[in-house]
Amino acid sequence: MKNLIEGIVDFRKNLTEENRTLFAKLALGQKPDALFIACSDSRVVPNLFASTNPGDLFVLRNIGNLIPPASSESQDASAQAAIEFSVYTLNISNIIVCGHSECGAIKSLTEGIDTVCCPHLAAWLKHGEESLNKVKNGLILNPKLSHHNQISQANVLQQMEHITSYPFVRERIENKQVRVHGWWFDIAHADVYCYEQQYNQFVLIDENEAKLILERLG
Ligand SMILES: [Zn+2]
Repeated sequence: MKNLIEGIVDFRKNLTEENRTLFAKLALGQKPDALFIACSDSRVVPNLFASTNPGDLFVLRNIGNLIPPASSESQDASAQAAIEFSVYTLNISNIIVCGHSECGAIKSLTEGIDTVCCPHLAAWLKHGEESLNKVKNGLILNPKLSHHNQISQANVLQQMEHITSYPFVRERIENKQVRVHGWWFDIAHADVYCYEQQYNQFVLIDENEAKLILERLG
């Protein structure tokens, strides 16, 4: 907690005039570029690795960056609420599902949901179970990765499928109003990868890949 409290004092002390103006403007409303869905893991820091400013991203974080599919009977509607709000009210045009290496949620899935200690955690992790099956059924995105990291990448694709199972999202994808992207953060190398359907693998977002992504966005 010490870092946290001292960080707030430092933030106040070091706030630039430019950022003060930005916050004053943001108080009037937000117009983020994207809905960013990531894991709650403390090592995943979208604002840092994507160098985004306040107001750029509408963020949904939960254990395992999971989205219950439209068919789910889950009582927890918080993930769906974030998607609805960002699509209907904020009119975002991009949804990014970002998984990461060494994900504890994915490791728990590989060890088996029955071995998970707590009932709510076990119930939540069920939304990632199909990712295990994807790999079991032969999906190999990068054979060099460890087993749990392979499942973590497959999980990004699985959650992209879950998002598109909502008719209001699917309709906007078909009308080219919304795009869904799959990203993956490699903690050890602080690298971010983007899923490229044409290669069926995650590709490092370097300058060349960034150019391709931006060209596609038009
Ligand atoms: Zn995680």
